[in-house]
Amino acid sequence: MLLQHQTWQEVESYLMRSTGIIMPIGSTEQHGPNGLIGTDAICAEAIARGVGEAADAMVGPTIGVGMAVHHMGFAGSMTLRPSTLMAIMRDYVLSLARHGFRRFFFINGHGGNIATCSAAFYEIYAEWEGAIGTRRAEGDDLRCRLANWWDGKAMGALSKEVFGDDEGSHATASEVSVTQFLLPETIKQAQIDPPRAPGGRFHGPADYRRRFPDGRIGSNPGLASPEKGRRFYETSVPELAKTYTAFLEEKV
Ligand SMILES: [Zn+2]
Repeated sequence: MLLQHQTWQEVESYLMRSTGIIMPIGSTEQHGPNGLIGTDAICAEAIARGVGEAADAMVGPTIGVGMAVHHMGFAGSMTLRPSTLMAIMRDYVLSLARHGFRRFFFINGHGGNIATCSAAFYEIYAEWEGAIGTRRAEGDDLRCRLANWWDGKAMGALSKEVFGDDEGSHATASEVSVTQFLLPETIKQAQIDPPRAPGGRFHGPADYRRRFPDGRIGSNPGLASPEKGRRFYETSVPELAKTYTAFLEEKV
């Protein structure tokens, strides 16, 4: 159930039975030699739509560009500064809160968004609960949750089983597989050399490019396939639907 495909009356009647909404958030950044620039937004959006169907929940518009400063050494990457992303999240959440939405479940496709999202949630709480300024009525609390699509227990086990140490941490074998499952017409034939990219830490964009010249970190996305992507998608959706439902039911 996409917010963008509803009428305002349909949204009003949804709000009579639920105040929950799923918000996909991704990124637009390099994903190595065979990964799509849009990988993180594509995965987050498709999985969010699946979760929306499984949990009979509204799905909001995707935040398609995230915090990807460290990927800016590679052509096509785009980034929001952390402060810009926080401002966008705040405006998305507070505009929907105006109509009665109170539970915001962000399905995230990009590790680089995590710190900024946590900060954005506190910006929102500071404003909503009057930590600064006027205090809102008791009991009318607004909650935000971030769930990375690859993070569930079953997902961890699946990644270990399918890719082991070749999963990596950027341009991962599983995210490339999910895009290949969703968009088989975009599959790239590329040389992946060495098969498993080096791992490790980095600082800014220039340092990232120096350490990880083809953009990958620790991964071998040469092992990706649409069939593996289907398994990841089909494991992630029900696991996240459960987490979403538990989030809505949380009283304390
Ligand atoms: Zn990614």
